[in-house]
Amino acid sequence: MDHKYHALTGTRGRRAGLGAAALLVAATVTAGLLGWPPFDSASANRPLRFTTAAGGSGRFGTADRLYRYKVRVEDGLPDSPAQFAAAVDAVLGNTRRGWAAGGDVSFQRMPADPVDFTVYLATPATTDRICGQYKLDTGGTVNCGVGHQVVINDKRWTELSPYYPGRPDDYHALALNHEVGHVLGHGHADCPGAGQPAPVMMQQILGLHGCVPNVWPYSDDGTLLTGPPAP
Ligand SMILES: [Zn+2]
Repeated sequence: MDHKYHALTGTRGRRAGLGAAALLVAATVTAGLLGWPPFDSASANRPLRFTTAAGGSGRFGTADRLYRYKVRVEDGLPDSPAQFAAAVDAVLGNTRRGWAAGGDVSFQRMPADPVDFTVYLATPATTDRICGQYKLDTGGTVNCGVGHQVVINDKRWTELSPYYPGRPDDYHALALNHEVGHVLGHGHADCPGAGQPAPVMMQQILGLHGCVPNVWPYSDDGTLLTGPPAP
């Protein structure tokens, strides 16, 4: 924060400064509650190195609206680009319960541009850096989906979430369905009622609010599993 700038701009500047400080406090409190580590500023200027998964997939779903995507893995992570791409393909390619089940979108993985979005697997620091460009605070801990980017934090991918212990396939499906959901334009949803399936667009990592675990956008019979809009 530039104190000289705020001093010179008077009340307006001070208000802006206080607003930013309040946001910072809110983020820090949230981070504290979730046990997030502080942002790693030392790595902020490190060049990012990713490898794009080779090859591509067939088309998942038949809808005219096709979303082409590529998959990139930060160099040095334990998962290879091929392994991560297979996991992403399995989720986006689930035409029974995935986003393609709605019949309004289809997906296809490409080996190179042009694509409609990119799915990254990245270290916590890199996740914060990419998501931070969109003013999202991932706190070294969570994933983000914004604009044309889905960024999966390797810490989450490996450690999973408290509601899916020992169930990597389920948590991976949830993480990808949630963040790809944002890219498709879906906002957050809340639990629709006790005992109901938790919507994938719920921020499930913050609590299920009476819902039961669920990692797919659609039910077995093709019903969209959602709930009231949430912030
Ligand atoms: Zn979200």
